[in-house]
Amino acid sequence: PTTIVDELGIALANLTDAATGAFTPTLRLGVTGLSRAGKTIFITALVHNLLTGGRLPGFTPLAEGRFIGARLAEYPDATIPRFAYERHLEALTGKTPVWPDSTRQISQLRIVLKYQSKHWYSGLRGPSTLNLDIVDYPGEWILDLPLLGLSFAEWSAEALERAHRPGSGKEAKPFLELLGSIDPHKEANDPDAEKLAAAFTDYLRRSREHGALSTLPPGRFLLPGDLEGSPALTFAPLPPSDQRARSSSLYAMLEHRYEAYKDRVVRPFFRDHFARLDRQVVLVDTLRALNAGPAAVADLETALTAVLSCFRQGESNALLRPFTRKIDRILFAATKADHVHHTSHDRLEAILNRLVASASKRARFAGAETKSIALAGIRATREGSIVEGGETLPTIIGTPMAGEVLDGTSYDGKTEIALFPGDLPERPDSLFEDGTPVALNFLRFTPPQKLDRNAAGDVVLPHIRFDRALDYLVGDWLA
Ligand code: GDP
Repeated sequence: PTTIVDELGIALANLTDAATGAFTPTLRLGVTGLSRAGKTIFITALVHNLLTGGRLPGFTPLAEGRFIGARLAEYPDATIPRFAYERHLEALTGKTPVWPDSTRQISQLRIVLKYQSKHWYSGLRGPSTLNLDIVDYPGEWILDLPLLGLSFAEWSAEALERAHRPGSGKEAKPFLELLGSIDPHKEANDPDAEKLAAAFTDYLRRSREHGALSTLPPGRFLLPGDLEGSPALTFAPLPPSDQRARSSSLYAMLEHRYEAYKDRVVRPFFRDHFARLDRQVVLVDTLRALNAGPAAVADLETALTAVLSCFRQGESNALLRPFTRKIDRILFAATKADHVHHTSHDRLEAILNRLVASASKRARFAGAETKSIALAGIRATREGSIVEGGETLPTIIGTPMAGEVLDGTSYDGKTEIALFPGDLPERPDSLFEDGTPVALNFLRFTPPQKLDRNAAGDVVLPHIRFDRALDYLVGDWLA
């Protein structure tokens, strides 16, 4: 709690700022999550809701009538791609609404929020402003942090050990065969490096398609951003050798590129972007993992542990020590909650809470608060109920995307259906202790095809618990 002296200090500082017009505070919000977790939808919904003062009863500044409005502003760093808000919104609100393209690389957007502060002195200086800088980046990229502590030989040993595990067999085989046919001590040449990198990338890609999230690094191999094809991404792990590598050998070439990847790609990302965040939201497609079964849930847990260890603060994370750390809140969000009935939303939150609890026990964030929320940035379903055998079952109503199949029925993307999605377990423990699979009926739905408009004529995007998320992430900065 602040004392009256603090309050006076803040009041004076604010008045001085208002007088000189020099200072607008900036809140840097990171939005991350693995591929397809829902980052693009989350940010599009966030910006749209703020710009149009959406239906957000749980967003305190709006509920208290202190939120005045928002506008987009030029992002201060002109070298970072801008989050394509308008293009994404157009996809969602066009004549035939479709889901927009997903996040492929880092992008940013600045939105300026205007509000009336509730402090006693605020009447003296009128409305306040806050710059909200949103930084969207692939979760795959933070899995690279451990590489900063590994030499090429150490990383190679780890990566090859993983590739040799029985579970990786099929996916890793072409890469391992190629590796066996190339002598790393021969003269360096680009075609060999390219072949090896391509086979290694292919192995990473295929193992991810089969559900393995934890075998990802290097992150840019899966989501290269604008680095596709550049030498910094053209390397692969090589077996150890007792021979000292000549400087002109293939081994030396790949080692050099690995070091360049760390120096030019990984380190700048952490230094210039990650380490400058104030708050972070981690989006998790919990339902997809639950639907895929216990192995996928276990794998998600491993991946989250790796992601979360990067948020570990201060002393305990030697790799981040060179960068200043200050994230004070982390929100975990189980996305796409509109795939289950609202009676399961609390359960979904409890499951996510449990998933990240074991991960964060290891990560131990000193000084950062965390919270889990089940949400849908854009709600694609309504709710209903059907009576079956005398029992009333809660359903969700939506239009499955073209090509979706469930129980032998294939959908055309035009037909609305009512679906009993299944229940989530009441106690998350049952899921983790017995490894009992959750029987969900899971279909991808088209985005809502008919949207309401508000009094000002703006489209209203329906959501689930999105206002709570917004309140947790931004609300106190608008106090
Ligand atoms: P990204 O890779 O993290 O940027 O993921 P996206 O935001 O592009 O989301 C991937 C896909 O998940 C979208 O194309 C949608 O099909 C689906 N999705 C994301 N958010 C929601 C949501 O709130 N509700 C529903 N029903 N689907 C969603």
